[in-house]
Amino acid sequence: MAMRIVMKFGGTAINSADKVIHVANLIKSEKEKGNNDIVGVISAMRGMTDGILSMSEDIKRGDKASIGGFLKNMREVHLNIIEQAVKDVKIKNEARHVVTTLLEELDDILGGIVLLAEITPKSLDYLLSFGERLSTPIVSFVLRDIGLACQYLTGKEAGILTDSNFGEARPLMDTTKLRLIHKIEPLLKRNIVPIITGFIGADQNGNTTTIGRGGSDYTATIISAGINADEVWLWSDVDGLMTADPRIVKDAAVIKEVSFAEAMEMALFGAKYMHPRALVPVIDTKIPVRIRNTFNVQNEGTFISQNLPKASQKIVKSISAIRHTALIDVGGGGGMVGAPGTAARIFDALARNRVNIMMISQSPSESSISMVVRKNDLDRATTTLDLNLLGKVVKQVNVNDDVAVIAVVGSGMRGIKGVAATVFNAVAKRNVNVIMIAQGSSELNLAFVVNDTDCEQAVRALHDEFDLAKGGSKK
Ligand code: ADP
Ligand code: ASP
Ligand code: MG
Repeated sequence: MAMRIVMKFGGTAINSADKVIHVANLIKSEKEKGNNDIVGVISAMRGMTDGILSMSEDIKRGDKASIGGFLKNMREVHLNIIEQAVKDVKIKNEARHVVTTLLEELDDILGGIVLLAEITPKSLDYLLSFGERLSTPIVSFVLRDIGLACQYLTGKEAGILTDSNFGEARPLMDTTKLRLIHKIEPLLKRNIVPIITGFIGADQNGNTTTIGRGGSDYTATIISAGINADEVWLWSDVDGLMTADPRIVKDAAVIKEVSFAEAMEMALFGAKYMHPRALVPVIDTKIPVRIRNTFNVQNEGTFISQNLPKASQKIVKSISAIRHTALIDVGGGGGMVGAPGTAARIFDALARNRVNIMMISQSPSESSISMVVRKNDLDRATTTLDLNLLGKVVKQVNVNDDVAVIAVVGSGMRGIKGVAATVFNAVAKRNVNVIMIAQGSSELNLAFVVNDTDCEQAVRALHDEFDLAKGGSKK
């Protein structure tokens, strides 16, 4: 039976000519298999988004040489892939033209911004959009070169409308759905494969927005909800969601099935760099997601869906870690004890200054509150606390600026006694000091904070303890 599948390809899947050709063949064969409707969503080439972000620091410093160096590299990477991956001369010239025009536009904009030595969230989003705007047409030209009818679109052209919260914009789903149907359905009817930039949309004034790091996964699920796809496939460079980050645990195993709730929990705590909200559009519409390896097509990958068979409900499924975060400990020297509204004042001040708090814990004695924030929010957080609350309800602010949050995730943990004891015994045996603990009331996860230097050891200890390695089944 013909299926409608939205396929997203991550930056790791397209960062060389061979890989782009491989991806194009994969799209073509899935399209031709049973005459499926396919929509492609493409990320920036690996390293481009990070590169643009670090270039934004060069802009603030007015460092023209570094900016020039990055632009040169960007040009080489993209033009080389066209050179090697597109055979037809006419298509090759067209591809070169599209890419060089975009690079000239980028060059012009940078020339202006660097003079101001200032970069706003709005202009940063515009700069970031070049990563996907360069990679996506290349995939589309290579597809044409191998004989598949396709059309390249930016997220904005496809109809993704967002609010104006640059850097972390949220889709306005109702209008987005209408626009997507209007734009995408006619292409699919004519058997044309839409190839769409991940990560970017536009606000109501037409300004380019980005929807958060790892956002191409999110783009794919937004589109699939809009056009009522049967499945979303996120093609990556790993065989699926794994029991731990394979770079930390060598014998990490692929998890065959997870529920939306578990996968969301894993994403929140850093497993695969999936956007934490990426599953929201498909949870509402119950569209299953597969995570698959572009370079190991035989493998079925991980299947993420609403309900799992009993056999898949293990107590603990994965150990995730968010590394290099910061811990802030706010103490009241007794003044916070029994003072209603203290926590509200702290969180309110931080929220108004756009500090995202990842984890909170308060001691029962109410004498202190600990929070974990991202490192790039740390300065803003401490300044906010200093300016607004220090010397009043808050007597001291202590910071540990390199911690890791480790999360043990699994829906089978709910109502099972002794999981926490097992976790902390395993960590204690390795002499790892636990700084802070929190458990969500859903009991889907148990999270705790350690010094980042202890992170890998703690993850490995827990992976062993719960026997999650390939073939493991003790617990
Ligand atoms: P993509 O380019 O496909 O979006 P990402 O780099 O965003 O890929 O995410 C894939 C990477 O996530 C893998 O290469 C792997 O190193 C890392 N990763 C971390 N934790 C996990 C996990 N639990 N399961 C799978 N991958 C993980
Ligand atoms: N290019 C963006 C990023 O690196 C989006 C993505 O890859 O999903 O965050
Ligand atoms: Mg990603």
